[in-house]
Amino acid sequence: MKELLRNNIRNLVPYSCARDEFSGDADVYLDANENWRDFIHLDSINRYPDPLCSALRKKIEEVMLLPFENTVIGNGSDEIIDNLVRMFCNPGKDSIVLFPPSYGAYKVFADVNNVGAIEIPLLPNFDLDMAAIKKLGTENDPTKKLLFCCSPNNPTGNAYSLDTIEEICQSFKNIVVVDEAYVDFSDKGSAVSLLSQYPNLVVLRTFSKCWALAGARVGILVASSEICQTMRAMKYPYNVGLPSQKAAFHALCEAKAVRKELQNIKRVRTLYREKFQSLACVTNVYPSDANFLLVKTVDANAIWHYLTKKKIIVRNRTNQRHCENCLRIAIGSEEECRKVYEALASWRK
Ligand code: PMP
Repeated sequence: MKELLRNNIRNLVPYSCARDEFSGDADVYLDANENWRDFIHLDSINRYPDPLCSALRKKIEEVMLLPFENTVIGNGSDEIIDNLVRMFCNPGKDSIVLFPPSYGAYKVFADVNNVGAIEIPLLPNFDLDMAAIKKLGTENDPTKKLLFCCSPNNPTGNAYSLDTIEEICQSFKNIVVVDEAYVDFSDKGSAVSLLSQYPNLVVLRTFSKCWALAGARVGILVASSEICQTMRAMKYPYNVGLPSQKAAFHALCEAKAVRKELQNIKRVRTLYREKFQSLACVTNVYPSDANFLLVKTVDANAIWHYLTKKKIIVRNRTNQRHCENCLRIAIGSEEECRKVYEALASWRK
């Protein structure tokens, strides 16, 4: 892994913050130039948060079974994606590999870092183009540093099998990033089970979807301890705020309720896949392993405007590859889904 890193990252001496240097319990904390007074009485918010999110990571190990040494917490998984690009890709020289249509931020972070983006489009049925991916593996180009595979994929909703992910890890010799933001909604399993066999694999998780904490901005990198250590050295020292760390900790304490709601979301997803499919303005509803449905309509632009006028906001994905006339509709409460269904039913060209 070391030889894949940017030179400046390989040789980086990490910033050492006060809470890195002392981690026990004390009576007087005068090491971080904080204000001693907590004016708003919100959980010691006058103090800097734990830079390593240790309490949260211990809880993650207990509830999500992700080993403490193999996790780094990010300000959303977005921060982790950006960190990975900055960790491995030399600006103006290296590239990342993408499978569009997929999550748009990968390309944005590549662009911001002046890193190339090589696209291997999905097949029209949203499967990965394995022939092209294997060809890339054979080519073994050292400048193609990272490959992003989103599974379940946004916006198509399908998850790839673990056999497929394993084939990618075997053929692509540099870093394989599997973005599992939506994995809790899928029955196809998690690539975390492959981590011990493939040190070039990293997995991303988030508290924004199943754990219902999008506003808190908490994401997880799951990777070899070597990659985790490097990311801890280069990330912003206090990248995740105290209320966010606490919110994620508390969500994990409510795992039973969260898992119950997960079953409910899956039930509503099945129900509304069928209901949307029966509508005159809908030509297809793709199977989904995520908490949204990709709905092919007769006219996505017109229907999107119509829904907006009715104060219903969905995502228009018509401009994405293979997604012509598609709307991406998140699974909300049953009441919200019913409103979308009724609005779609009343749409006339
Ligand atoms: N990955 C995927 C596939 C996503 O769809 C999203 C958000 N929509 C993210 C990552 C970013 O998640 P976070 O809120 O953890 O930054």
